[in-house]
Amino acid sequence: MTTRQKVLLVEDSKAVQQIYKNKLMLENFQVLTADNGMEAIKVLSLDKPDILLLDLMMPIMDGYKVLQVMKTDPKLQGIPVLVFSAKGQPEEVEKALNLGAAGFIVKATTKPNEVVDKIRATLSEKPAGAQQELTQYCVEIRPDSYDAARLSGDFHLNNFICPACSQPMLLDLIPDFSHDTPWFTGKFFCPRCSR
Ligand SMILES: [Zn+2]
Repeated sequence: MTTRQKVLLVEDSKAVQQIYKNKLMLENFQVLTADNGMEAIKVLSLDKPDILLLDLMMPIMDGYKVLQVMKTDPKLQGIPVLVFSAKGQPEEVEKALNLGAAGFIVKATTKPNEVVDKIRATLSEKPAGAQQELTQYCVEIRPDSYDAARLSGDFHLNNFICPACSQPMLLDLIPDFSHDTPWFTGKFFCPRCSR
C-alpha cells in the first residue's frame, strides 16, 4: 500500500476550502489548509506536501507570490502546484504557468471530482516537473560603481567580498515573470562557499 498523499489547500474562502477538504479526505488524501499565501509559506516551512492547490486571488499574500517564493527555494521547487483561476483568463493562467505552476483549474466550472482527477494526474507525472531547470543569472557588482558602496554599506556586504574565503560575491538574479517589464528577485552569494 502507498502512504496517503498530502495536499496543501490554499484558499481564502472558508466555504470553498471546506468543500475541497471534504472531497479530498473522502478520496483518501491528507489535507493541510492555509487561508492565504503567508500561511501557506508557514505551513511549507514545517511540512512537505506532495502537491499544492493554490488560489491566485487572496488577501495578505496572493498565489503569484507563493509561486515565486517556491520557485526560488530549492526545498520547495519540486512540489507541483495547481492554481485555481477564477475564470481561466489567459493572462492569469500564463502568468501562473510562467511562475512554475504545473497546471490550472478553472474554479467556476470544475467539479470537485475533476479536481481530484487533475491532482492524481499531476502527481503521477511529478518526476518530470521536478527536473525543471531554474532560470537565474549570476552577475558581479563592481564595488566602485554607482550606488554599489552604499548598497554594500547598508546591507553589510563587505564590498561584495565573501567574509569566509575573500572571493568576490556574485548577485544571483531570478526572473519574476509576474511583472510586465523584466523584473528580478536577487540575492548575493559566494560562488566558492555556497555552490
Ligand atoms: Zn566564500
